[in-house]
Amino acid sequence: MTAPVEPTASGTRRLHPVIAIDGPAGAGKSTLASHLARRFGFLNLETGAMYRALALKALEGTTALDDESSLMRLAETTHIVLESRPNESNRVLLDGADVTARIREKDVAEAASQVSVHPRVRAWMVERQRAMGARGGVVMEGRDIGTHVFPDAEVKIFLDAADAVRGERRFLQDAAAGKAPTQEAVLAAVRDRDARDRNRAASPLQPAPDAVHLDSSSMTLEEVCARAEALVQEKISAGT
Ligand code: C5P
Repeated sequence: MTAPVEPTASGTRRLHPVIAIDGPAGAGKSTLASHLARRFGFLNLETGAMYRALALKALEGTTALDDESSLMRLAETTHIVLESRPNESNRVLLDGADVTARIREKDVAEAASQVSVHPRVRAWMVERQRAMGARGGVVMEGRDIGTHVFPDAEVKIFLDAADAVRGERRFLQDAAAGKAPTQEAVLAAVRDRDARDRNRAASPLQPAPDAVHLDSSSMTLEEVCARAEALVQEKISAGT
């Protein structure tokens, strides 16, 4: 694996690039991130899983989702591990327990969206995300990676898609997993989460000024992957 050596915001250098992928729910970020991670042999770090894991712990206990101080006390006794596995899907461990499947449930998605509005919770997450990505060689996916977690990422992609397309994708994923919500309900939930992400005061969902915009409603996910792969390859080649 060869990659550019560039100074980071903190003045240190990393050997391999950070690939930041941001965008709203259902745009295809996870598919793109796992494609790029496999293709380039990078770690695949899905930051939404961290918000989901903390939200799950809050749901299972007595911590209110709107109580930032209590959420912070909870976070300080919480250990979240994102296990990036080369040819398998990633695993998420919450205090040592495998919560990979549970955090995909609707109640956790909704709770994660609420937990993520709190600035101190975000700061706690960001500190850990920066540590995980500090050496580079990572594809990091979320809402604020290119704007806040790694504003100096070598490649920034903002992946979007029309509401109806994102709602339909999430609906098909849920249906394939044996869940049976209506398409309208899925679309409403996706819109709700997006509105909260876009309108919160602390690092809202928005494209970094230097992000490359890709719209997966006008491209297939294969086309999106090919285009992103070319962007990463270009960056790697430029550094050799
Ligand atoms: O990406 P995913 O849908 O798993 O994220 C769950 C929730 O976590 C999102 O709805 C969003 O509110 C929040 N999130 C965030 N910042 C990130 C990743 C996720 O606010 N970097």
